[in-house]
Amino acid sequence: MFKLRNYYEFSKVFRQLFYFSQNSNRRFNQAILGAWGYTEENGPNRWAKLSESYVLSDEGKRQSPIMIDTGLTIFNKNTNIKLDKLDTLMTGSLKNTGQSIKYEPNSDTPVPLVEAKVDFPGLVLCNPFRLAEFHFHWGSSNEEGSEHVIDGKPGCGEIHFVYANTKYEGAKIAVRHADGLIVLGYMLSVGENSVFDELFKFMPEIKASNDRVENVTFKISQFFQDKQTQGGFYVYQGSLTTPPCYESVTWFLSPLPLVITQEQLRVLRSQRVDEHTQLQQNFRPLKPLNGRKVLRISCK
Ligand SMILES: [Zn+2]
Repeated sequence: MFKLRNYYEFSKVFRQLFYFSQNSNRRFNQAILGAWGYTEENGPNRWAKLSESYVLSDEGKRQSPIMIDTGLTIFNKNTNIKLDKLDTLMTGSLKNTGQSIKYEPNSDTPVPLVEAKVDFPGLVLCNPFRLAEFHFHWGSSNEEGSEHVIDGKPGCGEIHFVYANTKYEGAKIAVRHADGLIVLGYMLSVGENSVFDELFKFMPEIKASNDRVENVTFKISQFFQDKQTQGGFYVYQGSLTTPPCYESVTWFLSPLPLVITQEQLRVLRSQRVDEHTQLQQNFRPLKPLNGRKVLRISCK
C-alpha cells in the first residue's frame, strides 16, 4: 500500500514536471522566435506577454485598428494624398509568413510612391513614401475579417499597402518613427471581380508557413482600376496592427472596399500556419480611440 501510494505521488510529480517543462519550452520558443500569431496562446491578447518589445500592444495609446464612426469624422481640406506610379511594374516575392500573405518588392525594383500632407498638430509628412509591402487580413466567414470597422460593419477582409518615409533608410528604420509609415487600407467585400486573379494564381505554391515565390512581377494599379482615391479616405494617427505595434502609422482608410471573389476568400482561408493550424482570423480586435481625431478627406 505504502509503495503504491509512493508510486502514485511520484508519477503525479513527474507528470507535473513534464507538463511544466513542455509548457515553458513552448513559451520559451515563442519568445525566442517572436512567434506571435492569432491563436489563443499567441494571439492579440497575449502579444505583450510574448516579448518585452511588444509592450505597446498593451500600453500604447494610439493603437490600431479602430472603429470609424463616420458621424464623428471631421472633414479636413488641408489634408491630402497623391498616389503616384501605381502602374510601376515591380519584381518581388510573395510569401506565406504564417501570419499573413505578403508581397514585398525587391530592394532594387522601382515601386509606387505616395506624397501626403496632413493636418495633425506636430506631424509633418514631407518627402515621398515608398511602397514597402502589402498584405491581407481575413476571417473564417464572410461576416468578419477586416481590422478596421466602419459604422459597426466589418468587411470580410482588409488589404494594407505599407509605404515607408524615404527620409529614413528603409522600412525597418522608418517603422520606429512617428512619421515613418503611411498605410493605405482597403476593406474587402465579396463579389465578382478579377482584380486579384493574377496574384492568386501563386497561392497554391505558398500554402505553408515560410513558403515563398520569388520574382513575381506585378502592378498594384490592377487592384484599383482607377478607383484608388474615389470616395476619399478616413485619416488618423495609429499603429502597426501586428507586433511590435509601433505607433508610427498615419492611416488612410478607404470608405470604398475592393471586391474579392468567394473562391479567393476560400483560398486565403485554406492557407496554413502549420499542419495543425489554418491561417484564418488574422485580424486584431478594435483598440480604443483615446480621444484621437479621425479626419475625412475628399482627394479631389
Ligand atoms: Zn495589416
